[in-house]
Amino acid sequence: MTEEQEDEQFYRDTESVAFPKLDDHQLSLLEPLGQRRVVTRGDVIYKAGARDLGLTIVLRGEVEAYEQRDGTEQILATARERDFIGDVAMLQGTSALASVRVISLDAEILHVPASELRRALAEIPDVSKTIVDALIMRRRRISRDREFAGMRVLAQRDERLGHNLDDFLDKNRIPHRLVTFESEQGKALSERFHLTNRDLPVLITPAGRRLRQPSLREVAHEAGLLRPLATGNENEILSDLTIVGAGPAGLAAAVYAASEGLNTVVLESYAPGGQAGSSSLIENFFGFPTGVGGGYLTWLAQLQAYRFGAKFSTPSQALSLQYNGNGEYRACLDIEGCPAILYAKAVLIATGADYRRLDAEGREQFENMGVYYAATAMEGQLCRNETVVVVGSGNSAGQAAMYLSEGAARVLLVVRGKDISSKMSDYLARRVQSRENIEILYQTEIRKMSGGKKLEQIGLENTQTGERKTVRTQAVFSMIGAKPCTEWLPPEIERDEKGFIKTGTSVAGAPAWQANKHQPGPLETSLPGIFAAGDVRSGSVKRCAAAVGEGGMAVAGVQIRLASSS
Ligand SMILES: Cc1cc2nc3c(=O)[nH]c(=O)nc-3n(C[C@H](O)[C@H](O)[C@H](O)COP(=O)(O)OP(=O)(O)OC[C@H]3O[C@@H](n4cnc5c(N)ncnc54)[C@H](O)[C@@H]3O)c2cc1C
Repeated sequence: MTEEQEDEQFYRDTESVAFPKLDDHQLSLLEPLGQRRVVTRGDVIYKAGARDLGLTIVLRGEVEAYEQRDGTEQILATARERDFIGDVAMLQGTSALASVRVISLDAEILHVPASELRRALAEIPDVSKTIVDALIMRRRRISRDREFAGMRVLAQRDERLGHNLDDFLDKNRIPHRLVTFESEQGKALSERFHLTNRDLPVLITPAGRRLRQPSLREVAHEAGLLRPLATGNENEILSDLTIVGAGPAGLAAAVYAASEGLNTVVLESYAPGGQAGSSSLIENFFGFPTGVGGGYLTWLAQLQAYRFGAKFSTPSQALSLQYNGNGEYRACLDIEGCPAILYAKAVLIATGADYRRLDAEGREQFENMGVYYAATAMEGQLCRNETVVVVGSGNSAGQAAMYLSEGAARVLLVVRGKDISSKMSDYLARRVQSRENIEILYQTEIRKMSGGKKLEQIGLENTQTGERKTVRTQAVFSMIGAKPCTEWLPPEIERDEKGFIKTGTSVAGAPAWQANKHQPGPLETSLPGIFAAGDVRSGSVKRCAAAVGEGGMAVAGVQIRLASSS
């Protein structure tokens, strides 16, 4: 089947989910939440770029959604009686990607405002399933649509800033295209909008606005990702639970906390999804026998959290945390770019860890397609009887090399320094050195990675002699350490020797607990009411499912602490 035929089949198969008709019962549940309006041909119901959209249900007549782009129009969908107009932007609160207008002589619509819609989606299962499934499917169809533009990033080929904007929109799942300045389309766009290469990169919005060399915050603002957490002139934001970090741990906690009625704020410094968001295929996540894209999995979790009313703003980095153990609001947090102070009765730190990345040309392209950060049975399977490369000289590198050497034909251990015994335990270093199919390449670094969809070969350089060689391999295990994202926390939050946050019994002797009548919960830190979950926690297992489990478990601990202090 050609790609076009596959697309056609996909659109046919998903039509009924994406465009369902609401039945009498569903209409009767939505009617009291909205207002009826009679509109006439040409009336615009909303324009691309509008925020906080409500749901528009057509009761009579015809309306259409269209994208206006560089003087041409593309019709995206037509809605008739019992159809509703909308997109995932309604759930997320992000900007509308398209405009909607009336095309019949007149029409009657029911408009359900955004706040009422969110309440209905959280509380009325009879309507929420149909609507949420449709909104998600519409976004999947749009992402597949080669004609649809959404946001456009015009940038020079191989230009870092342009690729940064592309990555940011990608990870935040905002439909967009990267148009290279050098392409035919790029030339036409720059001529039309009088753009020169000094303006690049440029963000062109669906409403036709052009932002020259925008910062990520400006892009986030335009896309509707960056939303004010405070309303009006408020200089204080109050929350029951503030979750810092929206990787799997933070997202799972957001779903549980918001669904249990806690006023939940989620701060994320780059894009919800965290490390899992950059994994193209997670093969060991419970319930997905053929694997699931990490970005897709965490996007669904994010929508689930929105549906229950969790408040997100991206990018919003937590800069500091101050603790007041005696107050109802125990913590106050300073947020990047936000003049208001965020107060929280409880805080969950789910900021994860940054794996140190190999500084080799082409590495990004092979993340999880040849570059791995863990050597488990799953990765071991991928390289049976092959040559594999492990980089690093610590215990994790030694353990990975030993483990992989059981199935692989040959393991190359690439070490930057002159020996392995300074960082690796003696017994492990001896085993590694004596294993027949492990070869240690000292004073060596990977300079280049290349291949097609998957990694095929790497270029190595001996930093002492300058000698270069190429090795054919499908797997590089990067074991050069991970750094927990904890620099912003006060010293009273105890950490282990590597900076990971200690929790549970290991902090029972901390001064704040000594002065407290309770014991710390399993995921509670040395400050009562402040929790940690996922990769940032000392002793965590650095797996997606474990982070999700800890996120859910932390919320149970939060509920106990809130109840004990009320
Ligand atoms: C390429 C890759 C592939 C992987 N593949 C698998 C796999 O196949 N199976 C598996 O089980 N695991 C896999 N993992 C590991 C798994 O993704 C992690 O264990 C999991 O994502 C940890 O979740 P977390 O929520 O604890 O932290 P993270 O995913 O690290 O998320 C933390 C979030 O916090 C944000 N943040 C950090 N500091 C701040 C701050 N000050 N303010 C606000 N936000 C902040 C970050 O931007 C990030 O989004 C993979 C990891 C990588 C990198």
